Amino acid sequence: MMPGPVLARVRAEMGDLDGSGMSVLEISHRGSAFRRIADKTESDLRGLLAIPDDYRVLFMQGGATLQFAAVPLNLTTADVTVDHLVTGAWSRRAAQEAAKFCNVNVAADGGPSGYRTIPDRATWSPNPGAAYLAHAVNETIDGIEFPFIPESGDVPIVADMSSTILSRPIDVAAYGLIYFGVQKNLGPAGLTIVVVRDDLIGHARSGTPSLLDYGEVSRSGSMLNTPPTFSWYVTGLVLEWLKHEGGLTEMRIRNERKKDLLYETIDASDLYTNHVDPTYRSWTNVTFDMSSPDLETQFLDQAADAGLANLRGHRSVGGLRASLYNAMPEDGVRALVDFMKDFERRAADQGLGTRSTE
Ligand code: PMP
Repeated sequence: MMPGPVLARVRAEMGDLDGSGMSVLEISHRGSAFRRIADKTESDLRGLLAIPDDYRVLFMQGGATLQFAAVPLNLTTADVTVDHLVTGAWSRRAAQEAAKFCNVNVAADGGPSGYRTIPDRATWSPNPGAAYLAHAVNETIDGIEFPFIPESGDVPIVADMSSTILSRPIDVAAYGLIYFGVQKNLGPAGLTIVVVRDDLIGHARSGTPSLLDYGEVSRSGSMLNTPPTFSWYVTGLVLEWLKHEGGLTEMRIRNERKKDLLYETIDASDLYTNHVDPTYRSWTNVTFDMSSPDLETQFLDQAADAGLANLRGHRSVGGLRASLYNAMPEDGVRALVDFMKDFERRAADQGLGTRSTE
């Protein structure tokens, strides 16, 4: 979901950017108008996330998925071991991809719990010589997230923040590298942002494609080739909107209220169940299911009729999922919980779907 004021501005500026007489879709990425957009996007991101001076911000392509490969290509050699915390579908994919390039030690595996909890830290088996410790802060499909920063000593932490970035303040200095595609909390798909500490740049192994080499990308000002200009432009507008709305402290307050509202509704219900250990429930992607797939289909159909969209769980896990990204207003969540309560009342009247005892 995009913020309404951003969509309005995109519409207003579409024919004429900044009095140039041209659309953002027509200007050169090397011209001064785009240069201003690119510079402002970086400085607004630095401001909002309080990025320290010894970190570079790289604007890349290929999504978070390409970072699953770019990270080992830049930070390892083939004989090196890296630690991965596998807590859901995305961190599992990241570990599988990294294994093409180096030795992967799965230091914690939530698989046996069905990714319903994060394994107790006392059971982790990190490798003290690991080049980095990788994890996904929030698992978008499984609806589980880390409420803490893993302790890794001197080993740099690599964090996939695709679905939590800018949802609340973070301590960038606790990480060696953070990456995210912009398409969840920022703008249209196309742009991938990497925030990386200086000392981790410049070590790409030979044979790394230039577009994946953090050193080359950094030296070129993220302009080795034509960047996804529209995605970059809209990302810049969303960052301006975030600043105007009060920044990440305000986002944290709003997002906490939104997820509380929804989890309270689920927990008070006899029809909906969330299976994630409450300590690790995602603030962003709230997963729930019902006792029968047939009831879920009815729920989705009726929700769509009520204007409530995108509630189907990821195809790999089924069930239902509500994603509460920054642009989703509290009123949107209220509309959803009102609908859920009403649906539950109607299902109960028909004698359908009381929760099976687990
Ligand atoms: N990691 C996480 C946590 C994600 O949510 C996603 C996308 N849903 C990805 C990685 C893959 O991102 P992309 O589509 O940008 O490659």
